[in-house]
Amino acid sequence: MTADSMDSFPYKVELHVHIDGAVRPKTLLQIASKRGITLPYLDEASLRKAICIKEPCTLQVLLKAFDEYMPILAGDKSALYRMAYEFCEDCANQGIRYVEARYSPHELANNSPEPEHALEPGNLTPTDVVATICEGLQRGSSDFAINAKSILCCMRHRPEWSMEVLDLCRRYRDNGVVGIDIAGEEYLVCSQQDGANSIHHQAFLDACKHDIHRTAHAGEVGSSPVVKEAMDQLKAERIGHGYLILDDKELYARAHQQGVHFEMCPISSIRTRAVGPDITKHPMLRFADDKMNYSINTDDPVIFTNTLLEDYQMALQAGLTRQQIITTIFNAAKSSFAPEKEKTQILNDLAKVYATSGDC
Ligand SMILES: [Zn+2]
Repeated sequence: MTADSMDSFPYKVELHVHIDGAVRPKTLLQIASKRGITLPYLDEASLRKAICIKEPCTLQVLLKAFDEYMPILAGDKSALYRMAYEFCEDCANQGIRYVEARYSPHELANNSPEPEHALEPGNLTPTDVVATICEGLQRGSSDFAINAKSILCCMRHRPEWSMEVLDLCRRYRDNGVVGIDIAGEEYLVCSQQDGANSIHHQAFLDACKHDIHRTAHAGEVGSSPVVKEAMDQLKAERIGHGYLILDDKELYARAHQQGVHFEMCPISSIRTRAVGPDITKHPMLRFADDKMNYSINTDDPVIFTNTLLEDYQMALQAGLTRQQIITTIFNAAKSSFAPEKEKTQILNDLAKVYATSGDC
């Protein structure tokens, strides 16, 4: 039996996937050759060996894997367009019909791996990056009959980028940018980094004021106060991962009551050791029991070599039922940042597709 024939989830929704963590290795090699970038990898297998994480490691190892290949993509318009377009094709092939792909416009703007050279001239501007990726996603959405939006990421260690990220969210909201995120090393609680009047806080507060949707990586490997900061200071409607909220009962109860959405990533969480190796003790089981608002996502499929179906399968293995997984797909659609009209359409489509499951 093929993987597809075992797929009983024909309509999937994904809210947490890094577009640069989903690029095809073959494409990376072709782009490197086209750009004249010499790589230490002879073929696709050796590239995969360098960037793929199949055993539990740490978030730092994951971030290092990105460093391996980001210079191949960054600063090149046709590379970014191709990455976005092929991303849509890959989603369509897996039955992902609505997706929000995220990335840092600044990290993809420059092909220097050294942060101190990140704003050197000669590469793309963050505006070029957003315009190009929006174009690739729009064309891909239309050619492969899916709906792909994007979320722009602030980086915890680069607060000086955040106001520009907010500005890009505002300028490209009619081109498919639906929200703002914060990613990167989570031990950097924003206010500890650049004071109580954190620039990150300001960017997110302004996002709220201008009706830009907000999600934040928090409680993955950091601590529950990072989730608290995301909910209270960043006004996040969704939390990326959020497993460590379970350390703070009061906050957990409040998130439940407020309907905060948690973007869980089962395979990623085990590989980064955000959770223990025993999948039957994964926080998503507690979330399911408590009827929390959460979804299942891949995070970085090229690095973790996972598909969304494999994450669903891991959830089944953990003890969730198929019905509970379908509920997470509905949760994802309801908590998506899609414009209201499109959201209604997605929910109607989901209701039709899963009508026989009795879960709608
Ligand atoms: Zn992530």
